[in-house]
Amino acid sequence: MSRKVTLAEASAKSGVRHVLGLSGGKDSAALAIYIRDKYPALHDKIEYFFTDTGAELAEVYEFLDRLEAFLGKKIERLSSGKDFDHWLSVYNGFLPSAKQRWCTREMKLKPFERFVGNDPVISYIGIRADEDREGYISHKETIEAAFPFMEDGIVREDVFRILEESVGIPAYYEWRSRSGCYFCFFQRQGEWLGLKRRHPELFEKAKEYENRPRERYDWESGKGDGGGIGYTWSSRGDLDYLVERAIAREQAEGVITSTKHQTWQNMLAADDGDDESCAICHL
Ligand code: SF4
Repeated sequence: MSRKVTLAEASAKSGVRHVLGLSGGKDSAALAIYIRDKYPALHDKIEYFFTDTGAELAEVYEFLDRLEAFLGKKIERLSSGKDFDHWLSVYNGFLPSAKQRWCTREMKLKPFERFVGNDPVISYIGIRADEDREGYISHKETIEAAFPFMEDGIVREDVFRILEESVGIPAYYEWRSRSGCYFCFFQRQGEWLGLKRRHPELFEKAKEYENRPRERYDWESGKGDGGGIGYTWSSRGDLDYLVERAIAREQAEGVITSTKHQTWQNMLAADDGDDESCAICHL
Protein backbone atom coordinates (compact mmCIF):
# COMPACT_ATOMS: atom_id res chain seq x y z
CA MET A 1 0.00 0.00 0.00
CA SER A 2 1.40 3.37 -0.94
CA ARG A 3 1.71 6.12 1.65
CA LYS A 4 -1.29 8.38 2.23
CA VAL A 5 -0.89 12.14 1.89
CA THR A 6 -3.36 14.92 2.62
CA LEU A 7 -4.43 17.44 -0.01
CA ALA A 8 -2.43 20.14 1.79
CA GLU A 9 0.69 17.97 1.75
CA ALA A 10 0.12 17.05 -1.89
CA SER A 11 -0.29 20.67 -2.98
CA ALA A 12 2.83 21.77 -1.11
CA LYS A 13 5.08 19.17 -2.75
CA SER A 14 7.32 20.13 -5.59
CA GLY A 15 8.98 17.87 -8.14
CA VAL A 16 6.16 15.31 -8.11
CA ARG A 17 3.69 14.26 -10.78
CA HIS A 18 0.01 14.39 -9.92
CA VAL A 19 -2.12 11.70 -11.59
CA LEU A 20 -5.77 10.69 -11.49
CA GLY A 21 -6.92 7.41 -13.00
CA LEU A 22 -10.39 7.42 -14.54
CA SER A 23 -11.98 3.98 -14.60
CA GLY A 24 -14.99 5.04 -16.66
CA GLY A 25 -16.99 4.81 -13.43
CA LYS A 26 -18.85 7.46 -11.47
CA ASP A 27 -16.54 8.13 -8.50
CA SER A 28 -13.28 8.78 -10.36
CA ALA A 29 -15.12 10.95 -12.89
CA ALA A 30 -16.81 12.94 -10.13
CA LEU A 31 -13.45 13.37 -8.41
CA ALA A 32 -11.90 14.87 -11.54
CA ILE A 33 -14.81 17.32 -11.86
CA TYR A 34 -14.71 18.12 -8.15
CA ILE A 35 -10.98 18.92 -8.33
CA ARG A 36 -11.46 21.00 -11.47
CA ASP A 37 -14.06 23.13 -9.67
CA LYS A 38 -12.76 23.19 -6.10
CA TYR A 39 -8.98 22.96 -6.57
CA PRO A 40 -8.26 24.55 -9.98
CA ALA A 41 -4.52 24.93 -9.29
CA LEU A 42 -4.32 21.20 -8.66
CA HIS A 43 -6.46 20.45 -11.72
CA ASP A 44 -3.89 22.31 -13.84
CA LYS A 45 -1.16 19.99 -12.60
CA ILE A 46 -3.02 16.69 -12.76
CA GLU A 47 -2.45 14.18 -15.54
CA TYR A 48 -5.69 12.32 -16.17
CA PHE A 49 -5.51 8.82 -17.58
CA PHE A 50 -7.68 5.87 -18.49
CA THR A 51 -6.31 2.35 -18.86
CA ASP A 52 -8.08 0.61 -21.68
CA THR A 53 -8.37 -3.19 -21.55
CA GLY A 54 -9.89 -3.27 -25.04
CA ALA A 55 -12.94 -4.94 -23.49
CA GLU A 56 -14.77 -1.83 -22.34
CA LEU A 57 -18.36 -1.01 -23.23
CA ALA A 58 -18.99 1.58 -25.96
CA GLU A 59 -20.78 3.66 -23.31
CA VAL A 60 -17.47 4.05 -21.43
CA TYR A 61 -15.72 5.61 -24.43
CA GLU A 62 -18.66 7.98 -25.00
CA PHE A 63 -18.57 9.01 -21.36
CA LEU A 64 -14.80 9.58 -21.42
CA ASP A 65 -15.12 11.81 -24.48
CA ARG A 66 -17.75 13.89 -22.69
CA LEU A 67 -15.62 14.08 -19.58
CA GLU A 68 -12.52 15.06 -21.52
CA ALA A 69 -14.43 17.94 -23.14
CA PHE A 70 -15.80 19.06 -19.78
CA LEU A 71 -12.43 18.91 -18.02
CA GLY A 72 -10.77 20.77 -20.86
CA LYS A 73 -7.77 18.47 -20.51
CA LYS A 74 -6.62 15.41 -22.35
CA ILE A 75 -7.32 12.04 -20.78
CA GLU A 76 -4.26 9.93 -21.57
CA ARG A 77 -5.29 6.48 -22.87
CA LEU A 78 -3.00 3.73 -21.61
CA SER A 79 -3.01 0.05 -22.45
CA SER A 80 -0.97 -3.10 -21.99
CA GLY A 81 -0.36 -3.10 -25.74
CA LYS A 82 -1.97 -6.56 -26.00
CA ASP A 83 -5.57 -7.66 -25.99
CA PHE A 84 -7.36 -9.91 -23.52
CA ASP A 85 -6.90 -12.97 -25.74
CA HIS A 86 -3.15 -12.53 -25.63
CA TRP A 87 -3.12 -12.45 -21.83
CA LEU A 88 -5.55 -15.33 -21.67
CA SER A 89 -3.10 -17.47 -23.61
CA VAL A 90 -0.21 -16.32 -21.38
CA TYR A 91 -2.27 -17.58 -18.43
CA ASN A 92 -2.89 -20.92 -20.16
CA GLY A 93 -6.49 -20.16 -21.04
CA PHE A 94 -7.59 -19.76 -17.43
CA LEU A 95 -10.20 -17.07 -17.08
CA PRO A 96 -9.43 -14.48 -14.42
CA SER A 97 -11.48 -14.54 -11.24
CA ALA A 98 -11.73 -12.62 -7.97
CA LYS A 99 -8.99 -14.87 -6.58
CA GLN A 100 -6.82 -14.92 -9.72
CA ARG A 101 -6.99 -11.34 -10.95
CA TRP A 102 -4.29 -11.47 -13.54
CA CYS A 103 -6.47 -9.22 -15.75
CA THR A 104 -6.18 -6.24 -13.39
CA ARG A 105 -2.48 -6.83 -12.88
CA GLU A 106 -1.60 -7.15 -16.58
CA MET A 107 -4.13 -4.83 -18.21
CA LYS A 108 -4.56 -2.08 -15.59
CA LEU A 109 -1.82 -1.99 -12.97
CA LYS A 110 1.30 -2.64 -15.06
CA PRO A 111 0.40 -0.07 -17.78
CA PHE A 112 -0.16 2.46 -14.99
CA GLU A 113 3.20 1.66 -13.39
CA ARG A 114 4.89 2.01 -16.77
CA PHE A 115 3.16 5.37 -17.25
CA VAL A 116 4.52 6.78 -13.99
CA GLY A 117 7.90 5.00 -14.22
CA ASN A 118 10.09 5.83 -11.24
CA ASP A 119 8.89 9.40 -10.96
CA PRO A 120 7.63 10.53 -7.57
CA VAL A 121 3.87 10.56 -8.00
CA ILE A 122 0.76 11.49 -6.09
CA SER A 123 -2.23 9.49 -7.21
CA TYR A 124 -5.69 10.89 -6.46
CA ILE A 125 -8.24 8.22 -5.57
CA GLY A 126 -12.04 8.65 -5.59
CA ILE A 127 -12.88 6.60 -2.51
CA ARG A 128 -15.69 8.40 -0.73
CA ALA A 129 -16.18 9.41 2.88
CA ASP A 130 -19.03 6.88 3.21
CA GLU A 131 -16.86 3.93 2.17
CA ASP A 132 -14.55 1.77 4.15
CA ARG A 133 -12.07 0.23 1.79
CA GLU A 134 -8.58 0.35 0.46
CA GLY A 135 -8.47 1.65 -3.05
CA TYR A 136 -5.05 1.17 -4.32
CA ILE A 137 -2.98 -1.85 -5.12
CA SER A 138 0.41 -0.65 -6.38
CA HIS A 139 3.27 -1.22 -3.97
CA LYS A 140 5.71 1.12 -5.69
CA GLU A 141 7.39 3.27 -3.09
CA THR A 142 7.48 6.29 -5.39
CA ILE A 143 3.68 6.48 -5.42
CA GLU A 144 1.73 8.29 -2.72
CA ALA A 145 -2.05 8.41 -2.59
CA ALA A 146 -4.46 11.23 -1.75
CA PHE A 147 -8.17 10.76 -1.01
CA PRO A 148 -9.91 14.13 -1.51
CA PHE A 149 -13.46 12.79 -1.10
CA MET A 150 -12.60 11.16 2.21
CA GLU A 151 -10.91 14.32 3.40
CA ASP A 152 -13.74 16.62 2.33
CA GLY A 153 -16.61 14.38 3.47
CA ILE A 154 -17.99 13.72 -0.03
CA VAL A 155 -20.51 10.85 -0.04
CA ARG A 156 -22.37 8.89 -2.70
CA GLU A 157 -25.25 11.32 -3.02
CA ASP A 158 -22.75 14.14 -3.65
CA VAL A 159 -21.09 12.10 -6.40
CA PHE A 160 -24.36 11.65 -8.28
CA ARG A 161 -25.13 15.34 -7.90
CA ILE A 162 -21.69 16.39 -9.18
CA LEU A 163 -22.20 14.23 -12.27
CA GLU A 164 -25.78 15.22 -12.87
CA GLU A 165 -24.81 18.89 -12.82
CA SER A 166 -21.93 18.36 -15.27
CA VAL A 167 -21.41 15.44 -17.68
CA GLY A 168 -24.32 13.25 -16.61
CA ILE A 169 -24.22 9.74 -15.24
CA PRO A 170 -22.63 7.07 -17.48
CA ALA A 171 -25.43 5.35 -19.43
CA TYR A 172 -24.53 1.83 -18.34
CA TYR A 173 -25.54 2.61 -14.74
CA GLU A 174 -29.09 2.04 -15.97
CA TRP A 175 -28.38 -1.69 -15.88
CA ARG A 176 -24.97 -2.20 -14.31
CA SER A 177 -23.58 -1.11 -10.95
CA ARG A 178 -19.97 -0.52 -11.96
CA SER A 179 -17.54 0.12 -14.77
CA GLY A 180 -15.09 -2.42 -16.17
CA CYS A 181 -14.78 -5.06 -18.86
CA TYR A 182 -17.99 -6.35 -20.44
CA PHE A 183 -17.15 -9.83 -19.13
CA CYS A 184 -16.11 -8.72 -15.65
CA PHE A 185 -16.60 -11.60 -13.22
CA PHE A 186 -17.70 -9.17 -10.51
CA GLN A 187 -21.03 -8.76 -12.32
CA ARG A 188 -24.17 -9.96 -10.63
CA GLN A 189 -26.77 -12.18 -12.26
CA GLY A 190 -29.02 -9.24 -13.14
CA GLU A 191 -26.09 -7.45 -14.74
CA TRP A 192 -25.29 -10.43 -16.96
CA LEU A 193 -28.93 -10.32 -18.01
CA GLY A 194 -28.53 -6.59 -18.67
CA LEU A 195 -25.51 -7.32 -20.86
CA LYS A 196 -27.48 -9.91 -22.80
CA ARG A 197 -30.30 -7.43 -23.42
CA ARG A 198 -28.19 -4.34 -24.12
CA HIS A 199 -25.21 -5.92 -25.87
CA PRO A 200 -26.23 -9.40 -27.04
CA GLU A 201 -23.11 -9.76 -29.18
CA LEU A 202 -20.86 -9.12 -26.16
CA PHE A 203 -22.84 -11.57 -24.09
CA GLU A 204 -22.29 -14.21 -26.78
CA LYS A 205 -18.57 -13.39 -26.81
CA ALA A 206 -18.39 -13.80 -23.04
CA LYS A 207 -20.16 -17.15 -23.39
CA GLU A 208 -17.73 -18.20 -26.07
CA TYR A 209 -14.86 -17.82 -23.56
CA GLU A 210 -16.62 -20.26 -21.26
CA ASN A 211 -16.83 -22.86 -23.99
CA ARG A 212 -13.38 -22.41 -25.40
CA PRO A 213 -11.23 -25.55 -25.45
CA ARG A 214 -8.00 -25.15 -23.56
CA GLU A 215 -4.93 -27.27 -22.99
CA ARG A 216 -4.48 -29.08 -19.74
CA TYR A 217 -1.33 -30.83 -18.69
CA ASP A 218 -1.83 -34.48 -18.08
CA TRP A 219 1.10 -36.12 -16.26
CA GLU A 220 0.65 -39.40 -18.08
CA SER A 221 -0.18 -38.41 -21.61
CA GLY A 222 1.17 -34.84 -21.84
CA LYS A 223 -1.01 -31.94 -22.94
CA GLY A 224 -4.64 -32.65 -23.60
CA ASP A 225 -7.86 -30.79 -24.35
CA GLY A 226 -9.33 -29.38 -21.13
CA GLY A 227 -12.65 -28.55 -22.79
CA GLY A 228 -14.97 -25.90 -21.45
CA ILE A 229 -16.76 -27.96 -18.84
CA GLY A 230 -16.88 -26.46 -15.38
CA TYR A 231 -15.00 -23.46 -16.68
CA THR A 232 -17.11 -20.39 -16.15
CA TRP A 233 -16.92 -16.68 -15.30
CA SER A 234 -18.86 -17.34 -12.12
CA SER A 235 -18.46 -20.14 -9.60
CA ARG A 236 -22.27 -20.30 -9.46
CA GLY A 237 -22.67 -21.65 -12.97
CA ASP A 238 -22.38 -20.74 -16.63
CA LEU A 239 -23.77 -17.55 -18.12
CA ASP A 240 -26.94 -19.17 -19.45
CA TYR A 241 -27.69 -20.45 -15.97
CA LEU A 242 -27.05 -17.04 -14.36
CA VAL A 243 -29.33 -15.33 -16.86
CA GLU A 244 -32.03 -17.93 -16.31
CA ARG A 245 -31.83 -17.28 -12.56
CA ALA A 246 -32.00 -13.52 -13.13
CA ILE A 247 -35.11 -13.88 -15.30
CA ALA A 248 -36.75 -16.13 -12.72
CA ARG A 249 -36.03 -13.53 -10.07
CA GLU A 250 -37.46 -10.76 -12.20
CA GLN A 251 -40.62 -12.74 -12.74
CA ALA A 252 -40.95 -13.57 -9.06
CA GLU A 253 -40.44 -9.95 -8.04
CA GLY A 254 -42.33 -8.47 -11.00
CA VAL A 255 -39.55 -5.94 -11.66
CA ILE A 256 -37.55 -5.76 -14.88
CA THR A 257 -34.38 -4.46 -13.23
CA SER A 258 -31.99 -4.72 -16.14
CA THR A 259 -34.01 -2.70 -18.62
CA LYS A 260 -35.74 -0.03 -16.59
CA HIS A 261 -34.26 3.41 -16.67
CA GLN A 262 -32.87 4.28 -13.28
CA THR A 263 -32.57 7.76 -11.94
CA TRP A 264 -29.72 8.47 -9.59
CA GLN A 265 -32.25 8.72 -6.80
CA ASN A 266 -33.30 5.11 -7.60
CA MET A 267 -29.72 4.04 -7.65
CA LEU A 268 -29.01 5.71 -4.36
CA ALA A 269 -31.79 3.72 -2.79
CA ALA A 270 -30.43 0.51 -4.29
CA ASP A 271 -27.38 -1.46 -3.32
CA ASP A 272 -24.21 0.29 -4.43
CA GLY A 273 -22.14 -2.68 -5.49
CA ASP A 274 -19.19 -1.41 -3.49
CA ASP A 275 -17.96 -4.84 -2.59
CA GLU A 276 -14.72 -6.67 -2.95
CA SER A 277 -14.04 -5.30 -6.44
CA CYS A 278 -11.22 -2.81 -6.41
CA ALA A 279 -10.84 0.84 -7.20
CA ILE A 280 -8.53 0.51 -10.17
CA CYS A 281 -11.27 -0.96 -12.38
CA HIS A 282 -14.50 0.10 -10.81
CA LEU A 283 -14.22 3.42 -9.04
S1 SF4 B 1 -12.92 -4.88 -14.96
FE1 SF4 B 1 -13.06 -6.95 -14.12
S2 SF4 B 1 -12.36 -8.29 -15.83
FE2 SF4 B 1 -11.71 -6.18 -16.33
S3 SF4 B 1 -9.62 -6.00 -15.55
FE3 SF4 B 1 -10.98 -5.28 -13.93
S4 SF4 B 1 -11.42 -7.08 -12.63
FE4 SF4 B 1 -10.56 -7.82 -14.58
